[in-house]
Amino acid sequence: MPREILVAFGREVKLVPGRANMRPTSMIVRRRGDTYTLSYGRRVSFESMKSFLNSERVKRFFERTEEKAQKNAGAGKRGIMYGGKEFIYFGRTYPVRREASEKPSLVITSAEAVLSCPDSFTDEEVSAYLKERLRAALKDFIDERLPVWENATGLKASRYIITTVKSYWGKMFADTRVMRISDKAVQKSAECIDYLIVHELVHIRHNGHGRAFRQTLAKYMPDWKEREKKLKSS
Ligand SMILES: [Zn+2]
Repeated sequence: MPREILVAFGREVKLVPGRANMRPTSMIVRRRGDTYTLSYGRRVSFESMKSFLNSERVKRFFERTEEKAQKNAGAGKRGIMYGGKEFIYFGRTYPVRREASEKPSLVITSAEAVLSCPDSFTDEEVSAYLKERLRAALKDFIDERLPVWENATGLKASRYIITTVKSYWGKMFADTRVMRISDKAVQKSAECIDYLIVHELVHIRHNGHGRAFRQTLAKYMPDWKEREKKLKSS
């Protein structure tokens, strides 16, 4: 049996086993009124709760929510923060902080992803919402970059589809010129996604990855090898 209270940065945090549908490795800190609680999934060890609660991220969370609570006796009293839940966006990893609000929104600052959503949102609803936002961000990026590369190469896709397929980054069918980009690409930096776009465009002209393919690729993107390495490194 884990102890029921942990002290971190002078705050008492009540440890509460998460609901059955909580992800096994998730941790969530909440502030309700003047009380902090940590909900944890069934595979979270006492040690990892301790190190999570003593992290700089949680310290900032304590400070920020308390600052807000002082400023605003209403909504600011509530705060929520995810441990273990991270948001990978264009090559950078952000901790997710959750705030209560009626309408969901997501704001990405240099330090964190701030998710505002109703308190009633379950873990699954949060994941679905974050996923939808990631997809929209990838779409915005491709909408902006694809025409740029089509102009540079003179190779035009008929359209593109963002898929959820994890076994490839991209695919191009030369006969229909439909470009497929996996939604996992949004986790990679802009230079990697640019490379992916050019790679797929070049497949309109060349099947496979032979010498001619690589030469054409290098013509439009001389540093493609480095970009490819970054794309394929985890
Ligand atoms: Zn290819």
